[in-house]
Amino acid sequence: MTGTAAPDARPAPGDADAGIRWTVRHAYEGSPWWRAHLEGAGVDPASITGLADLERLPFSTKMDLRDSYPLGWSCVPESDVTRIHASSGTTGKRTVCAYTRGDVDDWADQFARCFETAGVTPDDRVQVMVGYGLWTAGAGFQAGAERLGAMVVPTGPGNLELQLEMMLDFESTVLCATSSFGLLIAEAVEERGLAGKLAARIGIFGSERWGPKVRERIRALLGIEAFDIYGLTELYGPGTGIECPEHEGMHTWSDYYVVEVVDPETGKALAPGEQGEIVLTTLRKEAMPLIRYRTRDLSFVYPEPCRCGNVHPRIGQLAGRTDDMVKVKGVAVFPAQVESVLARVEGVGSEYQLHIHREPGHGDVLLVRVEAEAREGLQEDLVHQLREGLSVRPQVELVEPGSLPRSERKTQRVFDHRSS
Ligand code: ZN
Repeated sequence: MTGTAAPDARPAPGDADAGIRWTVRHAYEGSPWWRAHLEGAGVDPASITGLADLERLPFSTKMDLRDSYPLGWSCVPESDVTRIHASSGTTGKRTVCAYTRGDVDDWADQFARCFETAGVTPDDRVQVMVGYGLWTAGAGFQAGAERLGAMVVPTGPGNLELQLEMMLDFESTVLCATSSFGLLIAEAVEERGLAGKLAARIGIFGSERWGPKVRERIRALLGIEAFDIYGLTELYGPGTGIECPEHEGMHTWSDYYVVEVVDPETGKALAPGEQGEIVLTTLRKEAMPLIRYRTRDLSFVYPEPCRCGNVHPRIGQLAGRTDDMVKVKGVAVFPAQVESVLARVEGVGSEYQLHIHREPGHGDVLLVRVEAEAREGLQEDLVHQLREGLSVRPQVELVEPGSLPRSERKTQRVFDHRSS
């Protein structure tokens, strides 16, 4: 060894321009799929100087990733892959992601930073109540807590009795779970009057959208401070971003990846504060780099720096998926926006439907059908609040609580009658 870096050596964290240059060249040279993808978009890796050229790079999608199943995206020799993870995928094939030793290391470093941001210390006992195996969650939480030097109690998901036993006997101070399971634990703790006997002080919840009502309940019942964690399998897994104690959005670790927000329809970059689709580009991910990867997650980047002093940019809590969007009079409407309005209004249930049809001479009409206990002024109140929240004036129909269809799987919310 002469001491000079190998041509393919990763840049140190923190230099975004070098990270972009390295990632594009690495993908181009390491994977026939990426080479074809970049050439198809007319990109010569040598012409990419850094962040300023980001918009010249082609988008990549989950569909691309699936088409190159199982390891067509991998940009390193297979002998350098030390682990794979996969997400279950509600439609079609699994999404498989490969990691080198360096990737696993970077993930643990980012996750340890998440724990630190939430106030976790090496003296804490971290109970990991999420899935292990192909799923990224368990391995991620565990590696991050170990990297920090905390003690891990790896109980895995489910098994309420075991969870409570470990929480009591090992005096777990940090609870990591999905928000649904967090709620289940919180209600079991309340039923059994265990709250005073627990040592839990911090909860870290991820992997699903959760409303303020659920969050407040978990916080109150368990007496903990709750943090939303960010991540997706394609981007290492959970632990690539987290809320800070200000609880205004999630910091994203900009020394490892770059966040863009684009208009889901046109692909045009949006300004800070504007809601659109989150697009990710990694800066030093070896086995499976992401170049302008379209997550389909909807959020925005906060325009102003966080009061906590952390300089890493923040994204808002995820508002839904691009797949859920419907356009009414040219305005994008998401079920999640409707949910957040309904959550604020007293006497309104959680079940609703959106019906869109076209009226000759009037254009699109949006009808929101919602379960509610009828009361004076409720309908007008809902029309007003939905109009504020959606930027479109809807019609509102109140229906009897329990009258809308329930589903054990994903409930259909949007009924677009315009095409029929
Ligand atoms: Zn902050």
